[in-house]
Amino acid sequence: MFRTLVVLIAAALASQGGELLASSAKRKITPAIQEGSPVWMAGFGQGRAATGVHDELWVRCLAMSTGGRPVAICAADLIGLFWDDVAKVREGVKAKLGKDADVIVASTHVHEGPDTMGLWGPKMGVSGIDDAYNAFVVTSAVDAAAEAIATLRPATLRAVKVTPGDAAGYYDDSRPPVVHDPEIVALAVDGMDRQRIATLVNWSNHPEALGSQNTLLSSDWPAGLYARLEQLEGGTVVFVNGAVGGMQSPLGAKIIDPKTKQPAPKDSFRFAEVVGEYVADHIHAGWGETRTALNIDEIVYRESMVKIPVTNAGFEMAAQANLYKGRKAVLADKTNTSPVGYLRLSAAGKTLVEVALIPGELYPELSAGGVVADDPGADFPGAPVEPAIKKLMTAPYRMLFGLANDEIGYIIPKAQWDEKPPYTFGAQRRWYGEVNSVGPDAAPEIARAMQALTQQR
Ligand SMILES: [Zn+2]
Repeated sequence: MFRTLVVLIAAALASQGGELLASSAKRKITPAIQEGSPVWMAGFGQGRAATGVHDELWVRCLAMSTGGRPVAICAADLIGLFWDDVAKVREGVKAKLGKDADVIVASTHVHEGPDTMGLWGPKMGVSGIDDAYNAFVVTSAVDAAAEAIATLRPATLRAVKVTPGDAAGYYDDSRPPVVHDPEIVALAVDGMDRQRIATLVNWSNHPEALGSQNTLLSSDWPAGLYARLEQLEGGTVVFVNGAVGGMQSPLGAKIIDPKTKQPAPKDSFRFAEVVGEYVADHIHAGWGETRTALNIDEIVYRESMVKIPVTNAGFEMAAQANLYKGRKAVLADKTNTSPVGYLRLSAAGKTLVEVALIPGELYPELSAGGVVADDPGADFPGAPVEPAIKKLMTAPYRMLFGLANDEIGYIIPKAQWDEKPPYTFGAQRRWYGEVNSVGPDAAPEIARAMQALTQQR
């Protein structure tokens, strides 16, 4: 009788698909600061050379599989990594493992790390990319992803989502409409020994809390998230940023330090730490209500390469000045190709976790909804409103990875695109944003691709 029951349970499990396997690995990618070869710090102005290291920069990977093709989610503490470098990571992982895997590389968008995109060199028009460093990032990501895939072991997964009531206070949005996607979503992956393998964290905010004058390399507020959550729960924290466009930033926000009950001092390491610890503490408290493991038995990853028209003259000039050092080819038809991806985790045919992968900085109204479509100051008033990407998904846990597998800049709702006067929201001068976007058709093209990826069953 007992033996029969065991056989029946085993057969039932097999018919539902494989069991979840997971692992994690990380590598330090802090650049060496040497006399005569400055490390140009990215994200604010040009000519900001690093003078030291406050905390290490990392590439951190979580790999998962249900027996089929594994997926590795890697996050690097970088301003952004172009598709050209991500493609090299994928080739490297395949060569190292001798088999295919879906490798995702997202950048946290830290503004206190090295220039891997070329726009923040010693002065305007001179690239800040150190090719040897980008190659080191690629090798480190290959090593971390391959190690995580090679060490996959039985695991359980839990998910949590929290939207803190005071989240709006952690952003200073410089452009209307003021929309945030303040939801914190995390996946905890534990081994059968109940030890944490990794916690995947998704939240949307610019890691630029230290401001433009800091010259010590740091992962900015994610440093506080890594330290706090790893201390509380163990394992490796893998943080992937969300919809950070136009402008989701803690700079300018008044953030209270829970230790002093006073506003944390601007541009200080404590200010950055408070932001990271805020995210960690909300996740930690969130597990109280979600102790049940999701019995994930199927993982699906899909991706499509999207052709995006490039109309930004500044980006064209940067390419001509070779700031990208051969990356980011604009094709003869003035388009750039970029990957849009979709990841789905399900159990017994039920979709439980969905992730939209966006190759840049999405305006949050394109994630959460709230596009203003009828402002007569817009350049394309009445342009069709793109579907809100988090609403295209149906799972109880939905993530949106920004700067995933590429960084094309801001992705602005077409109906809000505004370069020419009169300006939207009655402004006297043009809004900041379009200057860092490939063009008004990025959002419609990406939304169209995402719609197709999520609808495919
Ligand atoms: Zn940004």
